[in-house]
Amino acid sequence: MSGNDSTVTGACNCGAFSLTIPQQTGMALCHCTSCRKSGGSVSSANFSINPKDMKCDGPEPSKYVAKGSSGNDVTRAFCGTCGSNLWTAVADPNLIFVKAGLFPPGSVPSPNTHLFAKNMEDWEIVHEGAERIETQ
Ligand SMILES: [Zn+2]
Ligand SMILES: [Zn+2]
Repeated sequence: MSGNDSTVTGACNCGAFSLTIPQQTGMALCHCTSCRKSGGSVSSANFSINPKDMKCDGPEPSKYVAKGSSGNDVTRAFCGTCGSNLWTAVADPNLIFVKAGLFPPGSVPSPNTHLFAKNMEDWEIVHEGAERIETQ
């Protein structure tokens, strides 16, 4: 992360974890059943970033490893104290999905992708200009 880029800092509910990432220009809403269950909402809002670009202050996060639809391990990191989802790591070591809801209101751009759109509820809206991907 270069010192000149603008960054945004978020935190979990209890403040044990503080995350700083480059300001994002897009966001993906994931409607997969794993995201639904882990977040308790019908979709999760994610920033796709290189873990090298994330600065995380806090203890070692709690982790839950599940099989993704690809058959590969998907590791969900969350705060062991307050339960806030922090990020999801996948097989690609250069990619993590950081939870957009950790960051302050006003800092989250509109979605450019809907993942697992086949799971969307009838009333959910595909945002204008966003790509709808039925599975991953
Ligand atoms: Zn916390
Ligand atoms: Zn998902």
